[in-house]
Amino acid sequence: MTTSRISVSSPIVSAVLPDGDQLELIRSDKNSTLLLRWSGGRASTCREFQLGRRRFTPVKIGDALPSEIRLATGVSDYKSAAKLFNSIAGVFQSMCGLERNNAEMATCFAFATHFAECRDPAPRAILTGTDTWDVLQFLSLLGCFCRHAIPAALFEPAGHWNLPAGCSPTFVISGPIRFSARLRFLDATQCHGFGMARSGRIVNRPFSAVILESDRELDCAVPNTFCRINATPQIRPPLLDTKALGKIAGDFQPQLLMYRLKNRSRVASATFDPGSLSGATRALASVLGSCFPDSAELQMRVVRLLEPRDEERRLDHARCESAVVLEALLIACHEGRASAHVGGIAELANGILDLRGDGYSLKARRVGSILRSFSLAQRRDSRGYGFLLSTECKQRIHQLARSLDVPFFRGQIDKCDMCKKLSADPL
Ligand SMILES: [Zn+2]
Repeated sequence: MTTSRISVSSPIVSAVLPDGDQLELIRSDKNSTLLLRWSGGRASTCREFQLGRRRFTPVKIGDALPSEIRLATGVSDYKSAAKLFNSIAGVFQSMCGLERNNAEMATCFAFATHFAECRDPAPRAILTGTDTWDVLQFLSLLGCFCRHAIPAALFEPAGHWNLPAGCSPTFVISGPIRFSARLRFLDATQCHGFGMARSGRIVNRPFSAVILESDRELDCAVPNTFCRINATPQIRPPLLDTKALGKIAGDFQPQLLMYRLKNRSRVASATFDPGSLSGATRALASVLGSCFPDSAELQMRVVRLLEPRDEERRLDHARCESAVVLEALLIACHEGRASAHVGGIAELANGILDLRGDGYSLKARRVGSILRSFSLAQRRDSRGYGFLLSTECKQRIHQLARSLDVPFFRGQIDKCDMCKKLSADPL
């Protein structure tokens, strides 16, 4: 390491140096900050750190950081990932009366916020509950465990883009107004590389966010990559005050910071892929499970927490109109028909809907437009619009049906060669 007379000063919140050492902003007392340097598994504190011509300095609170931001005051030993996980889930249960699965989901989210810049999609959580006050109590508690939590009653995204280098905070959003616009914004900013053009520059920053659900009507608009936490208490919880919350954060933030410092490089390169889940639920499970590179047990717990949601998602898909039309097409394929017509497929589809008692039917016109969305070219002949069921076309139908996971394959069917080939391939 050399010092130079001409040095470039960089106020930072967090940095990973080329040799793998890490720098983290910590709070030394109420409103002053220091840098914690993590090198070779040991922590030391410094007022600044010089690397080549670059001088790293701690960001001052009040300059570029809001004074409410929660920062650790140092590091402390967490023993093991499972022990830390169980202690945090236990606090959610005892202090806010959360049901166990919801307490565990909240714990997964809190861990994930400590690695928000490592993986896509960035952590997002949506809270529901029967009583707003209970949910707000829980929101304050959750903020004690998240990385660099910033409470934001009136969250205006544009107001937070000038945060300093290395800052990937967790916005703890309590204000109920403009819910749908916020939901869209939090969805659109989940992946790296999103850009927001503002004042002539593109801002690109990962952050975590937790938001209260304030409009049940919009429930179906919540993306499946969001953690869902029901904060309805199962017991009468104690009243939480600022002092109690401060003590909890004071106990856990140093452990969580040590957890991040020890595991960051492995979390960033982790490739946990939960085999049994699919689509957005799989992406969420991968992000949450990757936070536990040392614990196959915690990774399994993540998968179990998300399984019911995955099943729900599959059912929604299976029930959607496209899936019904695909099932009708599969029947036509299996009957060995050489061609299919829109009217005939509509009849088959309505037969399936009838059997299920879904209480609606599809008009031939609607079936025609669904078929076009599958890129099945239609020609008109004496029996109306239709298409040839060529081998290529049958293959396409099988693949589409498989990707939508239509119930057809789970029924008692005689599998054709294409079915057999597909069931041998992983999804
Ligand atoms: Zn088949």
